[in-house]
Amino acid sequence: EASLKEVKDSIGAIHDYPKPGIVFRDITPLLQNHDAFKSSIDALKQRYEKSGVTQIAAIEARGFLFGSALAYALGCGITLLRKPGKLPGNIVSQTYALEYGTDELQMHENALTSNDKVLIIDDLLATGGTVLAADKLIRSTGATVAEAAFVVSLPELGGEDKLRQAGVACYTLCQF
Ligand code: 5GP
Repeated sequence: EASLKEVKDSIGAIHDYPKPGIVFRDITPLLQNHDAFKSSIDALKQRYEKSGVTQIAAIEARGFLFGSALAYALGCGITLLRKPGKLPGNIVSQTYALEYGTDELQMHENALTSNDKVLIIDDLLATGGTVLAADKLIRSTGATVAEAAFVVSLPELGGEDKLRQAGVACYTLCQF
């Protein structure tokens, strides 16, 4: 579809960032292009407007940008999944493995209830470690995860397979 081609074409490629041999997919040109950014939010709105989603769970930091615009468009709330030490209230926490070491996502413990149907949003799906931690955190509250949506997926890195195995539905606007 033309508008999704516009989204894909607006994503930059930065070679050897953050390490030699890595091609980092850069969403900042997409954010700077109003038509492309609007197309990305419109496509997500169209997919989820009749889904009954009550909350978007947005992953720090680039997930906040797409998540907040989509929450406005859908007329639902947004729950922040943050890096450690950023949230002021009582938190629940989930650690996950990185290539070297571990990382952690945190959420306010009272942010979601078993009545919530949640859409996870992040800019990009790579190995899937981050979104699986988000899924665990959300489900630990009794809430349901409707789907996880991304602007970009890198299928060679295995995230889509990992989500399928975990039974988490996934939607992406473009792939590299
Ligand atoms: P995963 O946990 O799926 O391996 O990595 C996904 C997380 O790392 C996302 O939060 C995403 O923002 C970030 N990330 C990993 N690689 C890239 C990349 O090439 N471009 C962007 N924009 N984010 C990336």
